[in-house]
Amino acid sequence: MKTELLMPAGNLEKLKYSLMYGADAVYIGGKVLSLRAQASNFTIDDIKEGVEFAHLLNKKVYVTVNVIPRESEKDLIKDYLESLERIHVDGIIVSSPAILYMARTYTNIHVSISTQASVTNLSAIKFYSSLGANRVVLARELSIDEIKYIKENTDTEIEVFIHGGMCSGFSGRCTLSNYMSKRDANGGGCAHSCRWSYDIYEDDKKINTETFKIGSKDLCAISYIKDMIDAGVDSLKVEGRMKSISYVSTIAYTYRTLIDDIYNNDIKDNEYYLDLMGEQVNRCASDGFLSGHISNEQTLYSK
Ligand code: SF4
Repeated sequence: MKTELLMPAGNLEKLKYSLMYGADAVYIGGKVLSLRAQASNFTIDDIKEGVEFAHLLNKKVYVTVNVIPRESEKDLIKDYLESLERIHVDGIIVSSPAILYMARTYTNIHVSISTQASVTNLSAIKFYSSLGANRVVLARELSIDEIKYIKENTDTEIEVFIHGGMCSGFSGRCTLSNYMSKRDANGGGCAHSCRWSYDIYEDDKKINTETFKIGSKDLCAISYIKDMIDAGVDSLKVEGRMKSISYVSTIAYTYRTLIDDIYNNDIKDNEYYLDLMGEQVNRCASDGFLSGHISNEQTLYSK
């Protein structure tokens, strides 16, 4: 099975552009029960239209249902999961064991475990598989060698982030945005406060000499895509449901070209693909944790 290119889509228009520019699948959030509250404007009718469009092209739509649910939301979740199955979405992405449990109890829908679950090892994959998960989205903090080892030793589908924003907290386990701007990162409203410029004060006295950021550089994994495909990674995921149409189109086209070139044994050098991305690749991009050598070079700090 050819490795899937999975793009984000913040609305129906972006969904269509992503698919037409080369994505095999998109992931979206519904108006209810999705982490990216600010990026999620798909009603159930929008999702249905998106799924019908994707299926006409023989492509897929996954829906994120990755809130941390309260007891009072149980009925809402059950109804929502059943609605998603009825309109034939290709899968859901969840982080809560409660939603995994309810998906397995009430539906036969394909379930991916979100990167929010911070899965970094085979035991965690076995655990989620034993509960009925079909796919695990690995934590962004793994090296390519760790990803290869995991994929070699499991039949569970594996999804890996290849492009877009990184968290300086472990895949979103962070309340900086909540504190700085009253926008809940784990409720979908991250203000990216880690990328702001900071000073340190002791009482009223500023004690640092240089203003700094605490965020991570964005991820751009162009040089690792062949290794991931060779390892049998099932899905390559791009981050950024709040990004523009031009961004998702360009990034989808670039990775589509790269993936097809790899399958056709016609891979060019990295510069070729970076040129295709043009202005859409962040100059502060890095290969994140993939090299296994983590240093200050992966942070924004004074950029
Ligand atoms: S503030 Fe930064 S580290 Fe925290 S959740 Fe947002 S992007 Fe991640």
